[in-house]
Amino acid sequence: MIVLKFGGTSVADAQRLKNVADIIRRQQKKKKKVVAVLSALSGVTDSLLRMCYLASLRDNTYLELFAQVHNRHLDTIHTLNLKEDSKLDSFVKEAFAELQNMLHGVYLLREQSPRTLDFVSAFGELLSTRILYAYFQLLQIPSSFWDGRALIQTDEHFGAARVDFRATNKNLRHAFDKLKGVGLMTGFIASTAQNETTTLGRGGSDYTAAIVGAALDAEEIQIWTDVDGVMTADPRKVKKAFSIPSMTYEEAMELSHFGAKVIHPPTIQPAMAKGIPLYIKNSFHPEHPGTRISKKQTDKTHLIKGISSIDDVSLLTVKGSGMVGVAGTSARLFNAIYGAGVNVILITQGSSEHSISFAVKPSDTKAARQRIESAFELEMQVKLIEPVQVEEGLSVIAVIGENMRHTPGVSGRLFQALGKTGSTW
Ligand code: ASP
Ligand code: MG
Repeated sequence: MIVLKFGGTSVADAQRLKNVADIIRRQQKKKKKVVAVLSALSGVTDSLLRMCYLASLRDNTYLELFAQVHNRHLDTIHTLNLKEDSKLDSFVKEAFAELQNMLHGVYLLREQSPRTLDFVSAFGELLSTRILYAYFQLLQIPSSFWDGRALIQTDEHFGAARVDFRATNKNLRHAFDKLKGVGLMTGFIASTAQNETTTLGRGGSDYTAAIVGAALDAEEIQIWTDVDGVMTADPRKVKKAFSIPSMTYEEAMELSHFGAKVIHPPTIQPAMAKGIPLYIKNSFHPEHPGTRISKKQTDKTHLIKGISSIDDVSLLTVKGSGMVGVAGTSARLFNAIYGAGVNVILITQGSSEHSISFAVKPSDTKAARQRIESAFELEMQVKLIEPVQVEEGLSVIAVIGENMRHTPGVSGRLFQALGKTGSTW
């Protein structure tokens, strides 16, 4: 079996949904069983969260946004010729009535909890997937509607719930055994053991696809998006960027960590654990082979798989003679900032141990600096350690590729290129 996942831009309107149906059917001709995981129509999750926020401020414009989202779904239903489908009609009516009630509650209480936000944002995926299911019925393609809340079980960490894989895998296998035709499943949403709606975090539909693929031992997982696979660099910044035919899971993780938005990083893990290849494909350009992500390095021609960057970071440097040869300094340092919930993007230490530099988000700079200053207060008083040095407005550039490992001269070329542009580093 294979799992296909379609992101928001791939299901943005009636035309795009028709295109999705074509892609699924083409895949079905090749393989026997398909489960397709869908995102909300593009931008709908953002709008739902925004409505909630506006309602909590008693800003009545939430009603306008509600009407816009409602109309957009009705238009899609209309254009797909699904107006006569009375079951779809009652599903949609009920969904918007529930949503409206919940928003009114938020309006009255003037507050939005993570639990409420999950409940509200779930409507995006429920609607997109239910509409495609109705369209499949119209086309008389056998299919089932899979509500992720009945299949993926999580804890109560609303907003980014953690999956109970034992219960989830069991549910998915059971549903799959009974499946006739295509499984059409909502991405992103799940529920607790008490049936309260949760979500897997923003961008979580990719993760749903990986969970399903791993549970059902899929032959492959295809992530359908709006670019031709994983690009060598951000095409908005680099004109000559092109899509990379294949890469390893590790390379894909590095690239997505440093900013390539093509794939949601947690997605890779369940696929990697089972060795299931991931394909990144373009639903606007289905003939393009896209990128294959798998265990083995099959591509020996590209030394470098990609260049990506994080645009705005702060670099903090802690140095002093009191650090040389003293065990435990870095443990104390990182423990101190860990306590402030600061995430470290990159670390370097000179081999003399005289200094440690690390990069954090600009918003974490102040907290990190304060924590370090209090952790090393005594050493700083007697100048064994110097005051924390902060450099702001820097970027991290990552050059990624496992083939570099055994090839001399790559970093020489890299720094030469940087030198030519007059960059300082
Ligand atoms: N619709 C959700 C979001 O935008 C999940 C997804 O699209 O992956 O975060
Ligand atoms: Mg989305």
